[in-house]
Amino acid sequence: MHKRTVNDLPADAIRGKRALVRVDFNVPLDERRTVTDDTRIRAALPTIERLLEVGARVVLCSHLGRPKGKPSEKYSLAPVAKRLGELLPNRKVRFVPALISDEAVRATEALAPGDVLLLENTRFEPGEEKNDPALSRALAKLGDFYVNDAFGAAHRAHASTAGVAGHLHPAVAGLLMERELRYLGQVLTDPRRPFIAVLGGAKISGKIDVIESLLPKVDRMLIGGAMANTFFRAQGLQTGRSLVEEDRVELARELLGRGSDKLVLPVDALVAPSLEAPARARGVEVHALAADDAVFDIGPRTIEVFAGEIAPGKTILWNGPMGVFETPPFDAGTVAVARAIALATGLGATSIVGGGDSAAAVAKAGLEEKMSHVSTGGGASLEFLEGKELPGVAVLDDAAR
Ligand code: ADP
Ligand code: MG
Repeated sequence: MHKRTVNDLPADAIRGKRALVRVDFNVPLDERRTVTDDTRIRAALPTIERLLEVGARVVLCSHLGRPKGKPSEKYSLAPVAKRLGELLPNRKVRFVPALISDEAVRATEALAPGDVLLLENTRFEPGEEKNDPALSRALAKLGDFYVNDAFGAAHRAHASTAGVAGHLHPAVAGLLMERELRYLGQVLTDPRRPFIAVLGGAKISGKIDVIESLLPKVDRMLIGGAMANTFFRAQGLQTGRSLVEEDRVELARELLGRGSDKLVLPVDALVAPSLEAPARARGVEVHALAADDAVFDIGPRTIEVFAGEIAPGKTILWNGPMGVFETPPFDAGTVAVARAIALATGLGATSIVGGGDSAAAVAKAGLEEKMSHVSTGGGASLEFLEGKELPGVAVLDDAAR
């Protein structure tokens, strides 16, 4: 679990050396190819700055989108280089539209200390997602040591996230990676209590392993989102037109039996005949759901119950929106839960938000700064919480004891 980080490297050992840094610059772009959300770029800045401070030469690589192993203008990292340049006004940021080429190697060698180089999309290489050993060796020519700061890609054993680390020493965690592992690791190994998990989102099926892994560790597990509907069905309630995973009802029933002292389910819901009729939204007790109702959010009484459960929490982990937060008024439950967690954080709780949609909901509510940690890795944070070892972490040097 404890990995060596860029802060553990003696400055004189890395001064002037080329740091090959795998970052997660998989950011959204609009039709004009402008970065619309630079959160992930900003999240990598502390590592970049730290390496520059100690005189390393910084070579960055990342994937962007799913170009499926061949070059394509649409997935070029050129617009990301532009944004990075704006975020580092006092540094020279170069972009080389190549990755595995003599041109790219020469560019890394010609790089002056204090400058930053961004290479082209790692997924333009067919060997990237196959963790191809030849590609890993070729990538290793682009640096003298390796830093992985791409937490969001750490659940993938790819050439740039895993294979390359076998050829470069030291191989250490970046500061974002370190922060992610520290916060998520604390949840699994040493949570301050009460430890409250808040789970929601579209499906139980994607989160069963997280439920299984966390249920023995938490003091309370609050369930919202469409996931709750499957539990309603398991309780023998009518669920109308709500999204229910029929093939998970039995599992939900079994979890209810096993975790009855910990699981907290909604007592009411915000329903409508469809998402196209938000004006007809109304609150209903869960035992009074009608055949043409669809549950799109937790209800006002549930908001109070959940807020009451969250308030005394000392560790609060949140994954998955409480409702269809993209469509008001079905964002009310998600926003209220975000506020309750923010409030508890202000009173000393450690709060961790995982999941892409949950992170987006927190940002939309303007509460990002009020959380202890908002994970930059949706899939990676889920796999970590399931208790799996992330390949991009496993390959890094262990911290000295
Ligand atoms: P995260 O990305 O945070 O892990 P998920 O991807 O699991 O979250 O789920 C997010 C999606 O769940 C959102 O698009 C939201 O609209 C949907 N959702 C939440 N509650 C419901 C519901 N009651 N009915 C249908 N969809 C829902
Ligand atoms: Mg999602």
